[in-house]
Amino acid sequence: MKRYSHWIDGQEAAPLGGTWFETHNPYTGEAWAEIASGSAADVDAAVQAAHRAFTEGPWARLTATERGALLRRVGDLIARDARRLAEIEVRDNGKLLAEMLGQLDYIPQWFYYFGGLADKVEGRVMPLDKPGYFNFTRREPLGVVAAITPWNSPLLLATWKIAPALAAGCTVVIKPSEFTSASSLEFARLFEEAGFPAGVINVVTGFGREVGATLVEHPRVAKITFTGADATGRAINEAAARQFKHVSLELGGKSPNIVFADANLDDAVNGAVSGIFAATGQTCIAGSRLLVQDAVYDEVVERLLALARTARMGDPMSMDTQVGPVTTRPQYDKVLSYIRIAKDEGARLLLGGGPATGEACGTGWFVQPTIFGDVDNGMRIAQEEVFGPVLSIIRFKDEDDAVRIANDVRFGLGSGVWTRDMGRAFRMSERLQAGMVWINTYRAVSFMSPFGGYKDSGLGRENGMDAINEYLQTKSVWINTGAATANPFVMR
Ligand code: NAD
Repeated sequence: MKRYSHWIDGQEAAPLGGTWFETHNPYTGEAWAEIASGSAADVDAAVQAAHRAFTEGPWARLTATERGALLRRVGDLIARDARRLAEIEVRDNGKLLAEMLGQLDYIPQWFYYFGGLADKVEGRVMPLDKPGYFNFTRREPLGVVAAITPWNSPLLLATWKIAPALAAGCTVVIKPSEFTSASSLEFARLFEEAGFPAGVINVVTGFGREVGATLVEHPRVAKITFTGADATGRAINEAAARQFKHVSLELGGKSPNIVFADANLDDAVNGAVSGIFAATGQTCIAGSRLLVQDAVYDEVVERLLALARTARMGDPMSMDTQVGPVTTRPQYDKVLSYIRIAKDEGARLLLGGGPATGEACGTGWFVQPTIFGDVDNGMRIAQEEVFGPVLSIIRFKDEDDAVRIANDVRFGLGSGVWTRDMGRAFRMSERLQAGMVWINTYRAVSFMSPFGGYKDSGLGRENGMDAINEYLQTKSVWINTGAATANPFVMR
């Protein structure tokens, strides 16, 4: 079986504790590789390497333009290796090869964009009210960044963190999910090949408590950027607060996808399906609550069921497959338990509702695409993130009702609106409490468009120009150009 070591200071590093754990292929349920199980000593080695690279190494002396060139070069290497990386992600994560090939073709754009942005970070000169002084600001990198990622999109989500962090001049320790570590380790080697100095990118694999929490608490980590469960995000935020560390958090959601009676229903139904069944519903922006206006409720449900029934489940490596397995065994159990909860709460089961079996599903962790109708927004199935192919349909009367239901959750990540009325589209874009509003589309993302959550969905923004600010701090520099010191006991 293949063995993956940590990646520390530009080379492979066996776990200091000498232990490994297995990673599984969700399509077969079988182990396919062994991953280094990290300890506090491994975390310390990686953070010290990142700190050395930040303070002493050649990285600290590179110009921003040179950093940008390295980022663009690694983008080229990712493009070169797209197919290989996509296949590793499919094997470890169960994502569709069709989706991963698209993702890997797109990921280089983050490195090109942030590579370009690296030398456009500018300070300001203050006009200043005080004669005899010159005052300007510098934008400086925060230092060592801990990038903690989940299992649902390991490379894409790592990219959203690494590209702006490196553009800002930080160094990074990546802690991938224990369920999907392999692709991040393969990724790290490409930074070495691109010419990044040793220690700029490190990967420590292992479990949340041993590696994740230790990393968060390491005194030399200046910033934590995290994507994952809200409970973990809360624990990280609390631990980071004790040392006044910078934090950005992307914590998932319970996003409303809202269909008005005047919508193009073909498009809306396609959008509803892609919102919840793409990536087997395992996306933070899953449109897991479908809000449908009374007048078209029955018609939308009928069309939706007809389309969802055609979903082809099977081997994620096959380009024909539309719905793959759930990535992890615990997640498979969790999704099935939410289906039971919804049934117990009285939601009406319209489709699916259990494990998917049959030849195409092999021995993998498959759940049937599941749709519940007549869901009340107060039910747990409408309030809690399932992170699987389970859709709740909720009726609404009018615009005010839709806004009230849409906002009546503690999350606020994505939201979709399907309408032909542009006035309504603008009004809804103002009234929805969500970091992203998609009008007549769903799940669109770009390296140049800010992404992040309102309310319990998180703190800070990824992507776009704002993202680099998450890795910078401002220094104000004062120069005396001739002001005389008057009374030294009085503040000037
Ligand atoms: P998680 O939050 O437990 O894990 C995410 C990452 O954080 C992993 O790398 C994990 O090892 C690490 N981690 C765990 N505990 C930590 C701690 N105390 N300190 C620092 N790091 C820690 O999420 P998961 O186990 O991957 O999935 C659990 C649930 O999270 C899912 O069921 C789903 O609802 C949700 N989820 C959300 C997203 C998202 O994009 N928002 C992604 C994956 C999972």
